[in-house]
Amino acid sequence: MTHTTLSPNLTLHGDVDIPQLGFGVFQVPSVEAATTVRTALEAGYRHIDTAKLYDNEEGVGTAVLESGLAREDVFVTTKLWNDDQGYDRARRAFDASLERLGLEYVDLYLIHWPCPAQDLYRETWRALEKVHADGQARAIGVSNFTAEHLRRLAAEADVLPSINQVELHPTMQQADLRAAHAELGIVTEAWAPLGKAQDLEDPVVREIAERVGRTPAQVVLRWHLQLGNVAIPKSVTPQRIRENFAVFDFELGDDDMQQMTKVNSDTRQGPDPDAFG
Ligand code: NDP
Repeated sequence: MTHTTLSPNLTLHGDVDIPQLGFGVFQVPSVEAATTVRTALEAGYRHIDTAKLYDNEEGVGTAVLESGLAREDVFVTTKLWNDDQGYDRARRAFDASLERLGLEYVDLYLIHWPCPAQDLYRETWRALEKVHADGQARAIGVSNFTAEHLRRLAAEADVLPSINQVELHPTMQQADLRAAHAELGIVTEAWAPLGKAQDLEDPVVREIAERVGRTPAQVVLRWHLQLGNVAIPKSVTPQRIRENFAVFDFELGDDDMQQMTKVNSDTRQGPDPDAFG
């Protein structure tokens, strides 16, 4: 693989670099994931986001191991599913994910949802601290945590979450949560960064895209990068996989960034973290 353009990195706690633009594989069956991730690695992505829930850790691991890239050159994230919360279950779930991936370590391990009704995320976090201390997860973090969940966790954690992966796209901009992350020193990671393609139809996004001579997806991803988010767009379409990575040779002006704030309508496409799981 001879790709020369790579994503810039952000730095997580413990000096762990994370490529700001990664690749998501939600709803991609495992066999297809192996092919799709290979295409993404060939296009230059060096950061893959999977989860136990996605049932494709095997395919992702195969693509990474067969890519010919050095293991340390690909950043791999996986996540702990809701029915694996609690210390012992979480330890076992982590080992099982590593086994399916066929890897010796992951770069980032996340609690997928806080599941406040279970009230186990603080205990689960201790298991993540353990796998981190053992060197099996270079960084640990959470997903779908609200500012309140984060503060509750931070009050008694030895290691703070390095990142919070949340639903974030032009129609769901999460300004308050991003401010809380900045206050706590937590990196913001955007899932459904394209709004599951729906935000690509927005008239403001389309107008900017037309004016700057880029596609709506490229404008939205550029907006994420300039906000300081990690973003993990998903596509199984080779041309879109490449299109989504071709965002490092242009910038949105201040006016365009300002226009983009107006697209927000606080519209979730996924579940409410306080009510889910
Ligand atoms: P995205 O916002 O990434 O949108 C994906 C959709 O957009 C697909 O239908 C894809 O179609 C389409 N698309 C991609 N690129 C383009 C393009 N250039 N032009 C037009 N359409 C395009 O949504 P996801 O829900 O997949 O989120 C991304 C990732 O975030 C997931 O894969 C997963 O890794 C993570 N995630 C995490 C969650 C969490 O709870 N932590 C929840 C949900 C997602 P096609 O594939 O057909 O090309």
